Amino acid sequence: MNALLTQAGFALCDTVPLLQDLPRRWAGQGDFTVLEIGGASQFEAIAQTWRDDPQRSQRLHGVSLHAGGGGLKGVHRQLQSDPRITHTTAVGDVTALLPQLRLGADAIWLDAALSGWDVRLLRHCARLCRPGAQLYTHDLTAQPRWHAAPLAAPWPETQKHALVIGAGIAGASVADRLAARGWQVTVLDAADAPARGASGLWLGALHPHFSQDDCLLSRASRAAMVLAVQRFNQLRAQSPHSGWNPCGVAHPATHAEEEAGLRQLCEQLQLPETVVRFLERDALSAQAGAELPLGGYWHAQTGVVDVRQLVDLMLAQPAVRWQPRSRVHRIERTSGHWQALDAQGQPLAQAPVMVLANAGDAPRLAPQLASLLPVRGQMTALAAAAVQAPQAAVVGHGYVLPAHLGRVSVGATYAPGSTDPAPTQADHETNLQSLAVLLPQHPAVGVGQVTDSFVGTRYASNDHMPLVGPVPDVSDTRWLATAAGKRLTDWPRLEGLYCAAGYGSRGLSWSVLAGEIIASHLCGEPAPLEAALMDALDPARFGQRAVRKGL
Ligand SMILES: Cc1cc2nc3c(=O)[nH]c(=O)nc-3n(C[C@H](O)[C@H](O)[C@H](O)COP(=O)(O)OP(=O)(O)OC[C@H]3O[C@@H](n4cnc5c(N)ncnc54)[C@H](O)[C@@H]3O)c2cc1C
Repeated sequence: MNALLTQAGFALCDTVPLLQDLPRRWAGQGDFTVLEIGGASQFEAIAQTWRDDPQRSQRLHGVSLHAGGGGLKGVHRQLQSDPRITHTTAVGDVTALLPQLRLGADAIWLDAALSGWDVRLLRHCARLCRPGAQLYTHDLTAQPRWHAAPLAAPWPETQKHALVIGAGIAGASVADRLAARGWQVTVLDAADAPARGASGLWLGALHPHFSQDDCLLSRASRAAMVLAVQRFNQLRAQSPHSGWNPCGVAHPATHAEEEAGLRQLCEQLQLPETVVRFLERDALSAQAGAELPLGGYWHAQTGVVDVRQLVDLMLAQPAVRWQPRSRVHRIERTSGHWQALDAQGQPLAQAPVMVLANAGDAPRLAPQLASLLPVRGQMTALAAAAVQAPQAAVVGHGYVLPAHLGRVSVGATYAPGSTDPAPTQADHETNLQSLAVLLPQHPAVGVGQVTDSFVGTRYASNDHMPLVGPVPDVSDTRWLATAAGKRLTDWPRLEGLYCAAGYGSRGLSWSVLAGEIIASHLCGEPAPLEAALMDALDPARFGQRAVRKGL
């Protein structure tokens, strides 16, 4: 290892055990990041040493990269009860995942016994180092002789104020994640109450996307769902009004060929049972509390959300100020602040950082963003007393959700290109048809039994992934002329302007992850996802694709 480290550009220094050296290293710092690679995780011991140390840094970030046993593969943020600590796990092939990490490390611990170390990987470790970082193994300590440009510096302590446009689940989650990091957040919305857009639905289901090739959308939505469940559980433990019901989600097949496909995909993906299991019809029906057509997926840890309640709770935090009746006509940056202006050009509010969480209207305020396609949807309500509601959410082609506040929700239709707010009889019929397919033993329900409807517009990008992160700056045409071979992380950005929009039909899943990505970027923390997935969500990706196609 000594020779490899030297070849990779590290200088060997006096050997000091990691845990013993950390207090000297983090004393008086703002943020301190430890990356541990291979072996059993020491992060709990590191975090305890940090907590016990009165001279500790203000915040501690840990990233634990290891092969894992049956754990969920990929990079995942593990929310902590102490908001000053972030912990990110990266599970899988260590040599493949190391280049997927985005972070600036102050200390790296590596298990020298791990097979596969070579000069290339150790150089990659050096590239992840901040100036002054040290690398530790059980019997040596080394310092990189050079370091790459660090990640974006944390936003200055004195300017931690963000203005969020949009008080749906997207805006509320960004506010929630920033408030957890000690930011002041002002949330503006055109409406007179929060969650009056697509997030006004009474109840929505949280479940991931699956595909044969486990594509980027599947991987990202799975990571998003797992993180959302963590945050919703935290909120549920804090308040009886979180709106979160972790009742489980059943996804039955509706014909034999589909059932075989779901079974085969479950075997192929080898995901932990906490994320998904294939259950035969009787077992799945027992979990759902309803007679289902066939076997299928069972997501035990997820469930349904009353989105309005959840948004209200997130906005009720002391660090969050909610400002209704504030339609933003345009935005501009003046004297280091982003201003939101009304139709008369009067400022509604301003802050050093602005987050566009106003769904389909975000590209109007920042034309650098790709336009988003409206997709109208209608949900149908039935009186709970008149329906044999399932105890878990039953999803597939549409969904039937457990009874909530006296109603059973059946949804939802999907009409690309339409924003018509008026409910239609035809859409109720479509939803009731879904109910008949998902719960074939249920007595027939007619449109005459419909008690209420919800109509909303989701907004989706043309690659079905949301736009999450810093808004690109496309004003420098000379830079753009050379941009074809550049990485997305090299793209110029409009300082302090972020986007969290385009959540399509999966707003509940994306919400917490998007908030965490933006907050992590602003605070100079490790990214909560692997680089390939961060790029797949990056609002600059459309510009990069256009440049590469020579458009
Ligand atoms: C019928 C239906 C069923 C659905 N079911 C599910 C489900 O089961 N599971 C799931 O995950 N997702 C579901 N979705 C999708 C989910 O509702 C959306 O993805 C999510 O609500 C989008 O959240 P948002 O905050 O981005 O947008 P919105 O909730 O629409 O919020 C945007 C906010 O921005 C405000 N705004 C816009 N422009 C301006 C401006 N210029 N100035 C000030 N404010 C502005 C609006 O007033 C609005 O409050 C469903 C959607 C529909 C329509």
